[in-house]
Amino acid sequence: MADNITVPIRMLVFSSPDCYACPEVERIVHKLVGSSMADICHVSTIDVVREPKTAERYNVRMLPTIMIDDEIVLQGLVGESDIRDVLWERVISSIIKREKTFDVRKESLLYISKNSFDSIMNEEFIRPYIGDYIHVGVMQQMIVSLVALDKLVPNLLYQSGREVGLYGVGTYLMITLNPNIGTEFRAKERFEEVLDGLVKYFSDNESINIPMKLAESAEVVNIDSDSATMRIMGLASASGSPFVGEPLCHFSAGEIAGLTEVLTGRNCVVHEVKCVGTGHEYCEFEITVSDEPISRNLSDNQEEEYIVEDRSQHFQGILHDISTRLHESFISPKDVFNRGNIGNEVHFTKLQQAIVTLKLTDPYCGALLYAAGRELGIFGPGRDILQRYLEDENYTWPLNLQQALYILNKFFHFGMIQAAKERADVKIIEDGDQLKIRIDECAISSGATDSGVSFCDFMAGYIAGRITIITNRDCVVTETHCHGLGDKYCEFGISFVD
Ligand SMILES: [Zn+2]
Ligand SMILES: [Zn+2]
Repeated sequence: MADNITVPIRMLVFSSPDCYACPEVERIVHKLVGSSMADICHVSTIDVVREPKTAERYNVRMLPTIMIDDEIVLQGLVGESDIRDVLWERVISSIIKREKTFDVRKESLLYISKNSFDSIMNEEFIRPYIGDYIHVGVMQQMIVSLVALDKLVPNLLYQSGREVGLYGVGTYLMITLNPNIGTEFRAKERFEEVLDGLVKYFSDNESINIPMKLAESAEVVNIDSDSATMRIMGLASASGSPFVGEPLCHFSAGEIAGLTEVLTGRNCVVHEVKCVGTGHEYCEFEITVSDEPISRNLSDNQEEEYIVEDRSQHFQGILHDISTRLHESFISPKDVFNRGNIGNEVHFTKLQQAIVTLKLTDPYCGALLYAAGRELGIFGPGRDILQRYLEDENYTWPLNLQQALYILNKFFHFGMIQAAKERADVKIIEDGDQLKIRIDECAISSGATDSGVSFCDFMAGYIAGRITIITNRDCVVTETHCHGLGDKYCEFGISFVD
């Protein structure tokens, strides 16, 4: 299988417990995928009774509905041969489409990398108003939400990180950090120099003017001719996270693999064997290189899986914890994320690299991020402050949309949504009888190039959640403009569902 299809194509099957045609269609789909497409296809079943928001977002009005790459391919009761024909045709065209978006991904990654490079090397802000760093809590909210919602995500994040390592400017940074990498040609010694470069890459590089703020420090704790263990303290994706029961730093693991592959010229796989998310004080990665192809098994080297009774409730609690910490660290800046001197921020390009590869590889990640943002908007912290404010200002609850947007705008600087140190400029725009939100220099996406995808699903979901609790009406927020789509600002349209 080509490099760029190592992540399976996602098939969404919408069904419900009382749908009479669903069990038969599901049975056929699982039979077909299981027998001939198991490596290239992954089936995610969505129960529309339990997840009405996802069905709404995809405008699913008939059951069962099968979607591939965000497009409906089959609806209703269909026979086995029809299902087989359509699935094969769609899966193949989806593979071809991926070959094409692969180039877009590479270009976007390069652009984002170049941005980080300019910003870091020239010490010039790409984002003059809000600055080039985002809060690590925002990154963790997104990673934990994705990991919580979907089984494919760890693998997706690893592949994303690997592509960033292979095609980003990280290799150049590494050679700048350790020039010996470029001059050492003996395999074992070269691997050692690469490890030395990785240690510098993941350390506080303030002294040499490369403040990615990716992690506080790193060290190699064990080394062999073709394997090594690297320990990273204060890694942005996990540092200060509550106990999750699963490792969180798949993206970094992938990036280490990609960088090592390019710089050693050998195959490489990386496993995260310890993580703050699994209750350790640091994250630890096992790096293996080989001249032969090596495959990476996610279940290898992993600690025993942590089993919880109610997974979604467990993750809701974690997300709430992270959001509360983020909130606290915003209201009165303090080090709740345990990153010592480097503080609570990470360069914005790290999050953008992950989002662009995730969304271009698997569009469903957009829906996952939206769902997670919405949950946070409805149940997340800051709600009581909002309520107190409404009482103090004598608003009669529930509010109309105009009032809701005014209030939300006033509260945009409250952490969760703001992400950056400085407040982005938010305007409420009247377009006919529609109200829209326009954000200049949105923290999630500004500084990105036209990648053909919007970046701010999490933010859209969050806004939807907050509007829902203030107006007491269910709504859908759609991002119509975004830096990721080549626009100069992000714009969100709001529509009520009732
Ligand atoms: Zn970790
Ligand atoms: Zn955007």
